[in-house]
Amino acid sequence: MDKNEYTIIDHQYDVLVLGAGGAGLRATLGMCTAGLKTACVTKVFPTRSHTVAAQGGIGAALNNMNDGDDWRFHFYDTIKGSDWLGDQDAIEYMCKNAIPAVVELEHFGVPFSRTDEGRIYQRPFGGHTINQGEGMAKRACAAADRTGHAILHTLYQQCLKHNAEFFIEYFALDLIMGEDGSCKGLLAWCLEDGTIHRFQAHIVVVATGGYGRAFFSCTSAHTCTGDGNAMVLRAGLPLQDMEFIQFHPTGIYGAGCLITEGARGEGGYLTNSTGERFMERYAPNAKDLASRDVVSRAMTIEVLEGRGVGPKKDHILLHLEHLDAKVLHERLPGISETSKIFAGVDVTKEPIPVLPTVHYNMGGIPTNIHGEVVKDASETVVPGLMAIGEAACVSVHGANRLGTNSLLDLIVFGRAAALRAKELITPNTPHVPLSENATEKTLLWFDKLRNANGKTKTSKIRLKLQESMQRHCAVFRSDSILREGIDQINAIGSVMGAIQVNDKSLIWNTDLVEAIELINLYQQSIVTIHSALNRTESRGAHARDDFPDRDDTQWLVHTQSSLTSKGEVKFELRPVHLNTLTNDVTSIPPKKRIY
Ligand SMILES: Cc1cc2nc3c(=O)[nH]c(=O)nc-3n(C[C@H](O)[C@H](O)[C@H](O)COP(=O)(O)OP(=O)(O)OC[C@H]3O[C@@H](n4cnc5c(N)ncnc54)[C@H](O)[C@@H]3O)c2cc1C
Repeated sequence: MDKNEYTIIDHQYDVLVLGAGGAGLRATLGMCTAGLKTACVTKVFPTRSHTVAAQGGIGAALNNMNDGDDWRFHFYDTIKGSDWLGDQDAIEYMCKNAIPAVVELEHFGVPFSRTDEGRIYQRPFGGHTINQGEGMAKRACAAADRTGHAILHTLYQQCLKHNAEFFIEYFALDLIMGEDGSCKGLLAWCLEDGTIHRFQAHIVVVATGGYGRAFFSCTSAHTCTGDGNAMVLRAGLPLQDMEFIQFHPTGIYGAGCLITEGARGEGGYLTNSTGERFMERYAPNAKDLASRDVVSRAMTIEVLEGRGVGPKKDHILLHLEHLDAKVLHERLPGISETSKIFAGVDVTKEPIPVLPTVHYNMGGIPTNIHGEVVKDASETVVPGLMAIGEAACVSVHGANRLGTNSLLDLIVFGRAAALRAKELITPNTPHVPLSENATEKTLLWFDKLRNANGKTKTSKIRLKLQESMQRHCAVFRSDSILREGIDQINAIGSVMGAIQVNDKSLIWNTDLVEAIELINLYQQSIVTIHSALNRTESRGAHARDDFPDRDDTQWLVHTQSSLTSKGEVKFELRPVHLNTLTNDVTSIPPKKRIY
């Protein structure tokens, strides 16, 4: 490596937040208002983060629609939705804090849709019920079907108001870890001028979102490559519950773009090739508004049993054409437009072709309810490292996330991380200088990749990886399908050494960016598919043909998976928290999950 090629710039902050989606911005705002000198590093412009695409709403039992909603019902629904893998103390914290968190968002300026009385409008969503399934709750607080857009822009404006410092279009390469196992900062590459930046911080908060792009068909943005998760793996730390991948029932057939569950919340329903509303057979009570894993499995079975629609009988129809055009215009304008563009469908006249599509990663970096990263079954905290948002696994979503609970997770735990940081650090505490070679290893890796002269293009390897994950880590899994997938991914690993990076420059080198993102996707795919093979039961989004039942005796545990230096996956199991945090609510022991 020719060191003279690199200009290295050092920075010191109290806190560094990596990522400017809903989670990163909420944490940044909290850190700034706590008087901590905070930098927010992001590879895309903040308001281009995937949070901007969130449609249907953010969950909070405000009871604005007078349906008798209560945060304890939200607590129950989230535990049941998680198929009992969610930690009940964390779920209590989230559902209770949901109410002030949403009110706070309103005060920050989020332009929510309104009821006639001027309150925040709320719609039904999958798996959200009143009194343990007695009726459907109206709990999703919505800004039409552009809720994420409204929240993200508001949070960015609030951050600017509170003088947050942004490093925009800086691509983070790796965490800087100290020899004592604590996190000391972050190494990032400025895409605009090619300089390398060593950020020292007392706390680094990873808020890099999910890794949906490990799959061929997903609803997430091209930038959703889970870079922070991969950095954690490279630091020798574990990820948690990576086998749980959420398939959203209604991605547009072919394009993968999302049609929000809010569409079914407003009265939409699914049919098969015989015109049957088949969800009535699978979930007699909640029907089309059962939990996402339940609906996705039902749709997959309909297709597998020959009742799919279209020339290939390979998808399902979502009907909205019976709804009042005014409702579609006011409450679902975004998906009306998306359907026109990506499916050529006028939703007021004809149904939308849909298919279960990868949507969310329940797994991620394990943390406690303060956002602090933990590294083993005894929940030992990694000093200086936090994780929040889709990158993290608190775990409030367990084996299956309920719709609207991700935006909530971002806001509640983004705030919690800032509260904890305020307790842990005194503003402007001096730093011990970083050793010269603290970032040497990462820089060498980066330089080697930039100069890679192999024969295979990143895009070709990535497509293979995505196709393997789509086929072999899908809605239904089995020992043989997963093992075949592992063989394919191992084969991809051996091509990885022959990667071709044509552009050798340091300025806006998207060729190199994509190569790094591919390595990140690959490392997460390994732990995901191995975790899926390891868990010999069916729970939430993880459905094994060969182990169709939930097994609470053996598997009421979180999977923690790390990568050894040889690339092997190492597992540790951590018990689920079945206890609550306070006496405000009683814990819910595992029972059969029926919708
Ligand atoms: C289409 C769609 C609709 C959805 N609708 C809803 C909904 O209605 N309700 C709900 O609750 N949930 C919804 N979700 C889920 C929810 O939106 C996401 O889980 C959530 O927004 C993730 O937020 P985040 O802050 O964790 O990450 P993101 O918003 O994905 O942000 C990640 C940030 O990390 C930065 N970053 C990543 N890697 C690097 C790197 N190497 N260097 C520098 N920066 C980096 C990016 O620049 C970005 O700023 C939806 C998701 C999708 C895809």
